[in-house]
Amino acid sequence: MKALTQCWFTRMHIPEGRAHKEDDGSHTSWCRHCERPIVSWDKARWFLADGFNVTHLAETVGGRFLFVVDSLEEAMIARYPVRDLPDEAAIEALKAELRERHGIGKPGSTLELHDSGAKPAERRKLADKRARRVAPTGRSSPLSASY
Ligand SMILES: [Zn+2]
Repeated sequence: MKALTQCWFTRMHIPEGRAHKEDDGSHTSWCRHCERPIVSWDKARWFLADGFNVTHLAETVGGRFLFVVDSLEEAMIARYPVRDLPDEAAIEALKAELRERHGIGKPGSTLELHDSGAKPAERRKLADKRARRVAPTGRSSPLSASY
């Protein structure tokens, strides 16, 4: 039997060498501790890709995917292609269906839904919105105007 690896205790898998950039926007590598295939979307958190031939899938299918990952086990448990869906509304509908099917967002659930094709423009829009909320509005307050 193999000795327990560092990542078994820490739940942190560390990529061995350079990560491989996949067509769908994910990164794949091998964990230097447990030597299992791992996948990441931000190169910060790595998930076990056991059971998936990630590279092979990306090569043969490509495009955008929705991923279901277990944040407790740090493992990817399902992957759904969305390239055959006609528009964003259909993708949103699939996301809602997957959240329902996997119980994502329910109390006690450790599952998360990821979208490999989340557009940089949309992320920027969200960041802008957040920045605007904390920015000063420009008008002086009633208190400072009374002198
Ligand atoms: Zn590992």
